[in-house]
Amino acid sequence: MVDRLHLSDPRVEAAMRKVARDAFVPARWLSIAYDDTPVPLTEEATVSAPHMVALLLEALDPREGDHLLEIGAGMGYLAALLAELVGPAGRVDAIEIDPGLASEATQRLAALGYDTVAHVRVGDGHEGLPEQAPFDGIVVSCATPDLALAWTSELREGGRLVAPVGSTFEQILVTYTRHGRSGRVVQGVPCRFVPLRRAGTPHI
Ligand code: SAH
Repeated sequence: MVDRLHLSDPRVEAAMRKVARDAFVPARWLSIAYDDTPVPLTEEATVSAPHMVALLLEALDPREGDHLLEIGAGMGYLAALLAELVGPAGRVDAIEIDPGLASEATQRLAALGYDTVAHVRVGDGHEGLPEQAPFDGIVVSCATPDLALAWTSELREGGRLVAPVGSTFEQILVTYTRHGRSGRVVQGVPCRFVPLRRAGTPHI
């Protein structure tokens, strides 16, 4: 799978070789665990496609020891990769709105030994996680109409926020780097993620 992705960042490549994607895929979809395609989890969640995960990781560019926030943990595949990249000195906080998925993610991360670094909690990620801020990086794994002020204000100086920004049907991968009270925005590739939901609001 990783050979076919032609990755340019050796650290991202090493992490993707190490973290077994099949550990984060439901049993009935194991036959496509190493295809470059999203894997369905629920009607409102997927395991992101490997090439898209690689783009998120390259845009976020996590370093050893970083403290990161992920919004939309799903079954924890990206959280495991983030934990691998930040290493034992780092920390990953991941928020998941679906309690069933959050519990799956917690179990799957523990099975691979990432639970000392990656911590999944149930919640609505719209407000980020102010009690754990500031973060070196924040990655949003679901489509958002805009970059929430809560997220940009929870970044440390020079920290990065990576998010798919756009409508429900198409987004652009945006990287925001915080500089003082504003930041620099770089637009990346078109992409399609499941929408960021509001707590208590069914997905349409
Ligand atoms: N990061 C996952 C992808 C999960 S898909 C991976 O690595 O494979 C996106 C996830 O975002 C879904 O599980 C969905 O339930 C969750 N989500 C949607 N809205 C949310 C919100 N407001 N807060 C937290 N999680 C949310």
